[in-house]
Formats: sequence, structure tokens, C-alpha cells
Amino acid sequence: MLDDTEIVACCSDDGDLALSEAMLIPRVLKVLLSLPAAKIDFWAHGMHVSGGGYVMVMFYISQGWIKPRLVRLASQLPKGAEAKYDPSTHILWFRRDTYGSGPDERATILHECTHALRDIMASPAFRNEGMYGSKIVGQLHFDNEAAAYIAEALFYIYDTGAEMPVGEGDEAEIFKAANAIARGLKDKKGPRVDETDFSDLRDKISLDPIYAGLALPNAPDDIGRW
Ligand SMILES: [Zn+2]
Repeated sequence: MLDDTEIVACCSDDGDLALSEAMLIPRVLKVLLSLPAAKIDFWAHGMHVSGGGYVMVMFYISQGWIKPRLVRLASQLPKGAEAKYDPSTHILWFRRDTYGSGPDERATILHECTHALRDIMASPAFRNEGMYGSKIVGQLHFDNEAAAYIAEALFYIYDTGAEMPVGEGDEAEIFKAANAIARGLKDKKGPRVDETDFSDLRDKISLDPIYAGLALPNAPDDIGRW
């Protein structure tokens, strides 16, 4: 008897899809269709982040337009990163096919899928109307990053009932700021993130040496090229 993983592996029409990547896809879809993801509903700097948006990401993955992939070379992900969304190729990169077992990894999947959602929202299909009323065209690379951290922090709270562990170092400041914002959004329908809190989070991300090595503080958000 086949389980769901095997069905995906044997029946996919993506001929070059490796078995390990076929194992990864159900893990990503499980996060996108989870109750914690469905409960997400807030506005951050012109972006409406919602459970309906994550269902759209799932649809794009099922059509093969967004592609979860495993890295083959260490350099395919920034040093220290576990996962990444690349808008130029629409690939969701992960280090392992076992990704998504614990709450921190599920929250990371949600974070990367928030980047994917912005990429869809800025695509020709939606950019003029503004998907769900969002207005994200012309924003900065680090606006995108800040929105993803807020979604990640709120997802973690809905998934576990507790706030994301903040850890140590520069990223701890990012997690603390994201947790504080998420605390104010929890259990509300469509609240708006305070713009000062949003720009404070964005600054903390852009000053982090890992992120500073990836983009300049005022770099445009490179999304919507489909
Ligand atoms: Zn990110």
C-alpha cells in the first residue's frame, strides 16, 4: 500500500523530481494547510498576510510554478541559513528532506512561503489589482524580510502557544522585535502592524551582518518576475 509520500513520488509529472524532494513537498504543504497558517490575518506595511494567501502558495507549488528543492552544494544557501526563497527562479531551497519536523522548522517554512507569497502578489496576474488589497510593489528587500519574520513569529505562537525562542547574538534582536509585534496581532482579525515597529524590525534585520552581506539597506524588493 502506498502512503501519501509515495503517491507524490510515483505520480508526479515533474520528471526530474528526486525522491528526496518528493518527500519535502508534503512537509511544506502540511504547513501551508495547517490551522496555525489558516489563522494568520494581519497587515504589515501594505501587505495583507493571510491564510488564503498561503493556500495560493500551495496552489503555485502544486502547479510546479514554485519549486521546493534540496540544496546539492553548501553554497546554494547563505552560510548559517537553513532555507531560502529565490524569487529569480521561484525555488524554495532547503538543506534536508526531513525539514519541518519541529515547530522552529515549521515556522521557517512559513517564513520562506511568505517570501513566495509576496512574489505571487507582485506577479503580473495580481500586481495591478493588488492581491487581497495588498500594495507591495516598489517596496524594499528588507520590507519583504520584516513581513516574513512577523508571519513566522505569529505562526509559531499559533502552532505552539508560546513565543519563538530568541536565542543569542544579532538574530536574537530580530526575533525579540518580531515576537513583540506578533504578540499584538494574536487572535485579532486583520490588525495593522504599527509602522514604527515595522521599520524598527526592518532596521534590525538590515544591520545583521548575514543580511547586510546579501543586500544594501535600500535595495529594492526583487520580486514579481514571472
Ligand atoms: Zn527571509
